[in-house]
Amino acid sequence: MTELLRVEHLNKAYGEVPVLQDISFTVNTGEVQVVLGPSGSGKSTLIRCLNGLEPYQSGTIYFQGQKIDPTPKNWQLLRQKIGMVFQSYDLFPNLNIMDNITLGPIKVQKQSKATAQKEALRLLDTVGLADYTAKFPRELSGGQKQRIAIVRALALHPDFMLFDEVTASLDPEMVRGVLEIMANLAKQKMTMIVVTHEMNFAQQIADNVLFLDDGHILESTPGKDFFTNPQTDRAKEFLQSMD
Ligand code: ADP
Ligand code: MG
Repeated sequence: MTELLRVEHLNKAYGEVPVLQDISFTVNTGEVQVVLGPSGSGKSTLIRCLNGLEPYQSGTIYFQGQKIDPTPKNWQLLRQKIGMVFQSYDLFPNLNIMDNITLGPIKVQKQSKATAQKEALRLLDTVGLADYTAKFPRELSGGQKQRIAIVRALALHPDFMLFDEVTASLDPEMVRGVLEIMANLAKQKMTMIVVTHEMNFAQQIADNVLFLDDGHILESTPGKDFFTNPQTDRAKEFLQSMD
């Protein structure tokens, strides 16, 4: 197994308040790491640190065997390899769907417009939205926007994907379509970290679960064991509260 990401002794505080404390874990290529934990436990902050959206006070992150020098410029380069999708689909409201998806490939990766559009269409087809290229974000449902946000991240051909509660603000009937896309990515061995409140889905895709509480990793347990036999009482309570 090849290690794709290694986090060592990461510490992050907002002002005086510690939010992540001594976080260490690894993610191997092709693995799905699910991050669970109560609200406020630091899940989003962790994901944001792994994409250079939040500075951290100490600790080291290795990506593809290289120690990350956490300068804004380095993170900008890394964001081509590390895709991220948030809870609030942050599509550009003034661009149509095709332009939303191809902006990064054309501007950042210097792909030709024809190449970028061809790939965008291929990806849109995989999520059932090939007919939506000329529409604007406001014309789409929440679930459709979130599928576009995933396609936009995939258009850069990332080696690693971060998902932070991407279905949390969707109407229930929209959730399944988005989860299916992520499950397909997992099946295709995309390496990813997934924060989710959907426990059935988490159980289905997790190779490993990190359970966070109050900024600490309370346990790191294989997915096949966590949901039936968590190691800590805190995780047991958490799972019961999610039923
Ligand atoms: P989760 O995603 O698990 O709900 P977060 O990472 O969003 O947790 O938040 C972890 C802690 O950090 C919480 O106590 C939250 O209030 C705090 N926090 C998050 N963002 C900020 C911020 N920008 N400034 C100050 N505190 C923050
Ligand atoms: Mg969060």
